[in-house]
Amino acid sequence: MDRAQLKQYLEFYRDLGVKTVSMGVEKKPLADARGSERAGDSLPSASGSLPSHDRQGVVTKPPDPAPLFPKLFDSDDSLEKIRLDIGDCQRCRLCSTRNKIVFGSGDERARLVFVGEGPGADEDAQGLPFVGRAGQLLTQMIENTATKEGISILRPDVYICNVVKCRPPDNRTPEPDEMEVCGQFLMRQLMVLKPRAICALGATAAKALLGSREGITKMRGRWHQWRDIPVMPTYHPSYLLRPYNQNAKREAWEDLKKVLHYVYDEPPRPLSDF
Ligand code: URA
Repeated sequence: MDRAQLKQYLEFYRDLGVKTVSMGVEKKPLADARGSERAGDSLPSASGSLPSHDRQGVVTKPPDPAPLFPKLFDSDDSLEKIRLDIGDCQRCRLCSTRNKIVFGSGDERARLVFVGEGPGADEDAQGLPFVGRAGQLLTQMIENTATKEGISILRPDVYICNVVKCRPPDNRTPEPDEMEVCGQFLMRQLMVLKPRAICALGATAAKALLGSREGITKMRGRWHQWRDIPVMPTYHPSYLLRPYNQNAKREAWEDLKKVLHYVYDEPPRPLSDF
């Protein structure tokens, strides 16, 4: 792993709120992973794999060791690759209750990405994000605000995904370990999409992207940053569906207006204008 990759890993864990990382190497699992008979043989060298000699004394290059870290940030990464890497995911407990993995949907060249918390029942059944009641509200919010503001975009023009790709039972909030495991795929999606802005829907998405402990009420309405991408946290549409949240609805519309103008105004204007 080169310095750039290591930096990206450390940034990834920092974004997830991890404060310390151990660089220790456990001999046994690595030996097992590489199929070696002697654990001591299996430790990767600092320079990668070293040449060794076969029985005839011919110099051979041993197979590459199992990576210490999974490959997260490939320069030729793509949404298709990420989907393939997720596969029939069994990495956390959510796999035992889900029906369908909800990867994300929308325009792969979208300038704007919405990140929600995790699939609900409708999404779990259809394998698509934000297709239930909260999703219908999100679609209305995007399309009505855009129309009112003279911006010609529809929901299929943006990209929508979630922090966790499998439905948490009873729609509970994802646990930190579930967010950590699944977060690697969200980070890769965002790195591939490279949107002009991200809208974080609700506290879980804001926390996953910004690592902040502040509540959504405090964070919303102001620009934050994930890597070098501006992030606007706002209320989750499910919260806005509650009848007594009229004020929050108005605030969410204000947030969305800012985001849409920043992303779609031509010619582009600096973030400080919004
Ligand atoms: N809530 C979310 O956070 N995501 C969805 O996809 C649906 C509801």
